[in-house]
Amino acid sequence: MTTNQQEFDRARGAMPGGVNSPVRAFGSVAETPRFFVSASGPYVTDVEGREYVDLVGSWGPAILGHAHPAVVKAVQDAAGRGLGFGASTPGETELAELIAARVTRDGSHPVERVRLVSTGTEATMTAIRLARGATGRDLVVKFAGHYHGHSDGLLAEAGSGVATLAMPGSAGVPAAIAAQTLVIPYNDLGAVREVFAARGDEIAAVIVEAAPANMGIVPPAHGFNAALADIAHAHGALLILDEVLTGFRVGPAGWYGIDPVPFAPDLITFGKVVGGGLPLAAIGGPAALMELLAPLGPVYQAGTLSGNPLAVAAGRATLDHLDSAAYARLDAASTAIAEAAASALSAAGVTHVLQRSGNLFSIQFAAEAPTDYDTVKAQQAFRYPPFFRSMLAQGVSLPPSVFEAWFVSASHDDEAVSRIVAALPAAARAAAE
Ligand code: PLP
Repeated sequence: MTTNQQEFDRARGAMPGGVNSPVRAFGSVAETPRFFVSASGPYVTDVEGREYVDLVGSWGPAILGHAHPAVVKAVQDAAGRGLGFGASTPGETELAELIAARVTRDGSHPVERVRLVSTGTEATMTAIRLARGATGRDLVVKFAGHYHGHSDGLLAEAGSGVATLAMPGSAGVPAAIAAQTLVIPYNDLGAVREVFAARGDEIAAVIVEAAPANMGIVPPAHGFNAALADIAHAHGALLILDEVLTGFRVGPAGWYGIDPVPFAPDLITFGKVVGGGLPLAAIGGPAALMELLAPLGPVYQAGTLSGNPLAVAAGRATLDHLDSAAYARLDAASTAIAEAAASALSAAGVTHVLQRSGNLFSIQFAAEAPTDYDTVKAQQAFRYPPFFRSMLAQGVSLPPSVFEAWFVSASHDDEAVSRIVAALPAAARAAAE
């Protein structure tokens, strides 16, 4: 048996930082990353044979819990029929139809056509290319602290790992490309109006996380998404709603289905849950826009593994099992964990706020609820690493960054929740020091 430390030392000799995605290196929590060998339901097991209750959930896809038997079986069956054909399969159409049917509200159907890709990064990148192709304009508006994947134009003031590493953007992005993205503060309609007043006829699209979850949870102000859609449309620009994280998680129709004020996005991006744990993401929108994509239209996009049959099988099985009972379990477990975390921190005298968007939540170490990236960054983030390390030592695996949501699954039953709840008081005391 090797130790996590031995695995990490070896990994660092083989891969930059020992990881294939930066936050996994545990740098911001000053801990040795755990190397996992198996997972089942709400639990993950590391190379040392230690089991943890998992609140990372593969960063979102594991919404039914790890290795859900129906998802595993669907993937095994698909694998037995062939790993990929580089040609169309009936399953792709079925998944596209499932996505279109679920994303509805009051009879609206914003998704008439779907293109399957492999990652959320590709989904947002393609949505932007499509918006540019449709409008003949170049500029994109994004919000500080929002994360839309790692394509060149979207890394400016990005959330998630870019925020965790406190990077303003990324080296290697040409200035000419960065200049095509206008970054403004979130939840600030004045800033939106200003940027459109100044450059409205050059803006192809605004891209927004439906309910931001990559700077911790920062709920949209009441009616923010609706106002954003109105302003963009008044200037002939599109609204790209990024539901890579929220899609099929906060409800069957994603944030689109539960925003207190209904609104009309033009393109919606999906990822994580829709691939059921395998690499799959999607872009959806009205036929008139989506059919600008090749082969019908002039906007090129393609992928060797797009619509891969294993990923499609995992996505379909996951959506099939996300019924109202699964959402009820997920919502109840989220509420129990969130409230227990908040009350443990209160009992330890730690200043914090519990931020929630539907069943997504995170804790922020601030007196007032942060509303944008600046107020998120002003919190006492130094309290998170000791909190995280205490939870880990007690067998609970949290996201290794204060800027991430806690991912609960429908498999977090009473036993898993009570293990988390039992670990919280000591972690809260560690955060108080
Ligand atoms: N958009 C949002 C809102 C995300 O949370 C993420 C990933 O965390 C992405 C896009 C990028 O997805 P991927 O990591 O699959 O490229």
